[in-house]
Amino acid sequence: MDLGLEGKSIMVAAASRGLGYGIADQVAKEGARVSIAAPTEPRVHESAQRLREETGADVISCVFDARDEKSIARWRDATIAEFGGVDGLVVNAGGPPAGLFDDFDDEAWQAAYELTLLSAVRMIRSVLPSMRERGGGSIVTVTSSSVKEPIDMLLLSNVMRSGVTSLAKSLSQQLAAEGIRVNNLVPGAINTDRLRGLMQTQADRTGVPFEEISKARAATVPLARFGEAGEFGQAGAFLLSDAAAYITGETLVIDGGAMKTVW
Ligand code: NAD
Repeated sequence: MDLGLEGKSIMVAAASRGLGYGIADQVAKEGARVSIAAPTEPRVHESAQRLREETGADVISCVFDARDEKSIARWRDATIAEFGGVDGLVVNAGGPPAGLFDDFDDEAWQAAYELTLLSAVRMIRSVLPSMRERGGGSIVTVTSSSVKEPIDMLLLSNVMRSGVTSLAKSLSQQLAAEGIRVNNLVPGAINTDRLRGLMQTQADRTGVPFEEISKARAATVPLARFGEAGEFGQAGAFLLSDAAAYITGETLVIDGGAMKTVW
C-alpha cells in the first residue's frame, strides 16, 4: 500500500527516542520530510542524524520543551523555513509522574496540565495556519490506554490524556471541512524508556525484582509481549497518511490486545 507520505512535511514532538522516534522513523522510511523536536541537546540532533543515515530522508531537529509556547513556535518556524509548510503533526511529550491522589498538590496538577494538555493545544494551534494554507493536514496525538481504562498509579495521566482525547474529537469535527483530520494513538505497553522507568518505580516501591514485574506485565498481554516502538510508529505513519483519508476523530489502540473494552 502506498501511504502517499513521499515529500510530506511531518513534525514529530518528543522524538529523540521512544514512541516519537518510532513514528519519525516510519514516516522517514516512507519518504516524508521529518522535523523532530525534544528538550535534550545533543540527543535530539544525534537522533536526527541517525534517522538521516538509516532512511536517507530529509530530517531536521530542534530543541524544544512542550511546556514552552515560544519553543513550539520556534520549532514550527524552523520547519516551515526548511520544508515550506506543515502537512502532519504528532503531538507527544514525556509522561507526567506516576502516583496516587494523595501524592499530588496543586503545583503537580498544574505541571501535568501544562505538560500534557496545554502543550497539545499549543502545538495544534501553532500548525493550523500552515495546514489551512496547504488545504489540509493530519494531526495525531499520542495518549495512553489510561483514556479507556484509568491506571491506578497514573492519576495525572488518566485525567490529562482524557482531556487530550476530547480535544482531538472536538477538533476533528471542527476542522474536517478544512481537510484537517485529528486522531489519537493509544499505546498499551510499548518497550521504551518510559515503560521501563514505570516498572522500575514499581520495583522500588514493592521490592519485587524488575525482571519479575516485566515478565508478569508482558504475560497479561494476549500477544504475550510488549510492543516495539517501530510497530507503534507504523500505526502512526498510517494515520498521518492519505491511506487514512477517511478516518478522523478516531482512537487507534496499539496494545497487543491488552484492552478488554469493546469500543
Ligand atoms: P520515552 O521516555 O521513551 O520518551 C519520551 C520523549 O519525550 C523523549 O524524546 C523526551 O526527550 C521527550 N520529552 C520529555 N519531556 C519533554 C518535554 N517537556 N517536552 C517535550 N518533549 C519531552 O517515552 P515514550 O514511551 O516514548 O512515551 C511517549 C509518551 O507516550 C509519554 O507521554 C508516555 O507517558 C506515553 N505512553 C507511553 C507508553 C509506553 O508503553 N511506552 C504507554 C502509554 C503512554
